[in-house]
Amino acid sequence: MDQSPLLAGGSQKSCEPVIPPQTGEALAMIIITRPDATEEQIGHIVSRIRDWGLKAEVSRGEMRVVIGVIGPEDKIREKPLGVFPGVESVTPVLKPYKLVSYEFRGTSSKVKIGDVVLGNKDVVIMAGPCSVENEGQITTIANSIRKAGARILRGGAFKPRTSPYSFQGLGKVGLQLLAEARKESGLPIITEVMDTKDLDLVCEYADCLQVGARNMQNFSLLREVGRTRLPVMLKRGMAASIKDLLMSAEYILSEGNFNVLLCERGIRTFETMTRNTLDLNAVPVLKSETHLPIVVDPTHGIGIRQFVPAMALAAVAAGADSIMVEVHNAPELAKSDGEQSLLPAEFVDLVGRIRAVAEAVGRAV
Ligand code: PEP
Ligand code: MN
Repeated sequence: MDQSPLLAGGSQKSCEPVIPPQTGEALAMIIITRPDATEEQIGHIVSRIRDWGLKAEVSRGEMRVVIGVIGPEDKIREKPLGVFPGVESVTPVLKPYKLVSYEFRGTSSKVKIGDVVLGNKDVVIMAGPCSVENEGQITTIANSIRKAGARILRGGAFKPRTSPYSFQGLGKVGLQLLAEARKESGLPIITEVMDTKDLDLVCEYADCLQVGARNMQNFSLLREVGRTRLPVMLKRGMAASIKDLLMSAEYILSEGNFNVLLCERGIRTFETMTRNTLDLNAVPVLKSETHLPIVVDPTHGIGIRQFVPAMALAAVAAGADSIMVEVHNAPELAKSDGEQSLLPAEFVDLVGRIRAVAEAVGRAV
């Protein structure tokens, strides 16, 4: 085989594209069944669609079942989806995002991280340090946030830092420390994967993968996390529109992984008094556009410890399914984001106030 001179003596990596070229556009159709449709009729529709080589995703609402169908446009258009007994309507999804769109499921999705379910009436609180630093630090914080009411532990082992000279995270050791903190506290863990080369390793430890703001449009990473079946929290890029976020999530779902959470974490604006501008507009907009649960990270959103609680409460009032906040037992010693991390006592106080706001808007903690 001829070898490119550029590769000679160097990397043996194949230049074959991972993704086969796609010839046509994909089309998604929504089949809504009649309230009196039988299980047999629904099963028949789904198996026929799959026999045709199309993908079918079944979602059960209280009255009706929604079958989302996706496949190449030319193929889908020639199929008589409306003729099956039990079908009430067939409509195309006209938005550019298909699998993530609310109508594709017709109901909100739930995502399970360990034993914790997001997307229910209760607001799930995730907390922990920006970075995992050492065993004492992560275990102490894990125990204190669990006692306060957090249900998921966060902590970065691979850190996306603006400067290459800043602390980059403990890597594998950080993951091992997180696993120990999970054992000690009983909390499932969420941690960032920055690079496809680390994905297998991170998957060995994480209960939920985090794709950070800076990687929101790293499409090869999105496809790879889409091939796993672990839950993925996709953070909004700091210069990304809500639509960009939805399109990025579509990459993950298009690989078959529907266990996705979207996270609003602040965007860049002309404002300089705060680190970012937490775009709470995104919460009700996303809740109406997508079935995926929505997380808000007020910590990176505002970037100043003193103001984090107010934005966390506002996010709950706006309808977030989950809140992620950074907590550190000695923020003055933190290797990253100490200035925006809550002290454990401030976190205890915040959880009580989140509970009060959640109850006021018909939710719980
Ligand atoms: C983080 O969660 O610590 C982080 C780096 O977040 P973001 O990607 O939103 O900046
Ligand atoms: Mn951080």
